[in-house]
Amino acid sequence: MNNTPSESYHALLARHEAMRLRRNILAPARDGARPRRTDPPQMYGGHDAPADQSLIGASLGVVGPLEELITGLYQVLFDRHPYLRSFFPESMAFQQAHLAGAFRFLIGELHRPEAVTGYFTQLGRDHRKLGVRPAHFAAFESALVEALRARAGARWSAAAEDAWLRMLGLAVSSMVRGENEAVAELASWNATVTSHELRAPGLAVLRVRPQQPYVFRAGHYASLETPLLEQAWRPYYLARAPHPDGELEFHVRARDTGGVGDALVHGTRSGDTVRIGAPRGMLPLPEGAQPGELLLIASGTGWAPMKALLQQLAALPVAAPRVRLLLETGARSGDARAAEDFYDRAWLETFRRRCPWLTVMPADAAGWTAGAPLRALGGVLPARPGAAEHLRVLMALEAGRPGDEASGAEGVRTVVAALTAAGVPTERVHRDGPGIAETGKMSGSWSSPV
Ligand SMILES: Cc1cc2nc3c(=O)[nH]c(=O)nc-3n(C[C@H](O)[C@H](O)[C@H](O)COP(=O)(O)OP(=O)(O)OC[C@H]3O[C@@H](n4cnc5c(N)ncnc54)[C@H](O)[C@@H]3O)c2cc1C
Repeated sequence: MNNTPSESYHALLARHEAMRLRRNILAPARDGARPRRTDPPQMYGGHDAPADQSLIGASLGVVGPLEELITGLYQVLFDRHPYLRSFFPESMAFQQAHLAGAFRFLIGELHRPEAVTGYFTQLGRDHRKLGVRPAHFAAFESALVEALRARAGARWSAAAEDAWLRMLGLAVSSMVRGENEAVAELASWNATVTSHELRAPGLAVLRVRPQQPYVFRAGHYASLETPLLEQAWRPYYLARAPHPDGELEFHVRARDTGGVGDALVHGTRSGDTVRIGAPRGMLPLPEGAQPGELLLIASGTGWAPMKALLQQLAALPVAAPRVRLLLETGARSGDARAAEDFYDRAWLETFRRRCPWLTVMPADAAGWTAGAPLRALGGVLPARPGAAEHLRVLMALEAGRPGDEASGAEGVRTVVAALTAAGVPTERVHRDGPGIAETGKMSGSWSSPV
């Protein structure tokens, strides 16, 4: 029987709700049963997570590579439920890479269910802006099973399939919980672009005004969607501390790929609209506490969150702490492209003159990656014995600039290693994207996930 997309959508929703009710009413947890999607995530307990982890790891030999499994999964999903295609952007490349990162994280961290549930609960909250409903997870699960079976053929085993499904159940139950917990919160904010300034070739500074109150903290990032590329959401740092006029600032680089960056830089003007996701991220300073001595490390548009943090520090009712900013401006690199790259020099110069607690150190772009991160850090780490232990480091290194694709992940690793070697405890080095960003193809090279 051939249903129309809308009929099959509503049939799926109805079937899912009926199944959920039946399970809730009838099914006491059976020993050894698959975790139910509505159960709290700890119901994974009773199963041996490390055993599942090795079963799944071993099965990758027959169903992998992950990227191809995911291509198959989406093929099945869209064949069976064509209406679901509209939930995704036209280009699936970013989405597929993001899902591969999510699976790697899930498989790698399965022995730490609290890390998995934390990440997927947040993802569930964030997926609301895409219009994703619990019923879609059922379709996703069936598509995964079909793709796994198709890739493995005769080498597939029921034990491996059960392990995959238990793992997916843990992620999905967390996502559903995140979605349910956030039911009273807006999923996204409509905003009007109030100014759009091209500050350098391929680099725009946008001001936008959300149509509903938008509460965030300096250091946060937010996902943006433009009507030019529906359902393609990309994270961008908020480059301005919260201000009574409600305006937000973003610094966006075009990547010359026809992606969101290009649409925001070259296709957007004052008066246009964008949608904004909820604020996220690891860079905001602890609320209420005196932050202590700070080292901010940024390159490219990684400057954006630092600008917001500096504004916040300047507005503190007490004296600001000592702050060192190591900024890759291109000033010493001798590279013409990098030299013209620092697009906010005038603002920073004025700010620095007003704020004696701030020291700005230009970093050589080569210093991040050329095996000489200490050369860049040497001048900014406090010399006093033991002082590095109390330093708080916030970092945002940009990668993926046209012609500079390799620098991000390696830069982050070398800088973190150099800080650790200098005595800064790793828990005092804050950057976005632990976990999935480390494993996800896209986000690993920026310092964060979507
Ligand atoms: C937490 C966070 C904050 C960010 N803040 C900013 C910001 O303030 N300003 C800004 O311009 N960008 C920022 N980004 C990057 C931004 O979200 C997009 O990744 C980038 O704009 C590319 O998306 P696109 O749609 O323009 O291009 P796509 O078409 O998605 O990709 C273009 C090319 O860039 C590569 N690429 C995509 N994303 C990344 C990435 N994250 N790292 C390395 N290479 C990548 C792809 O492999 C591809 O070759 C941030 C990313 C994160 C994770």
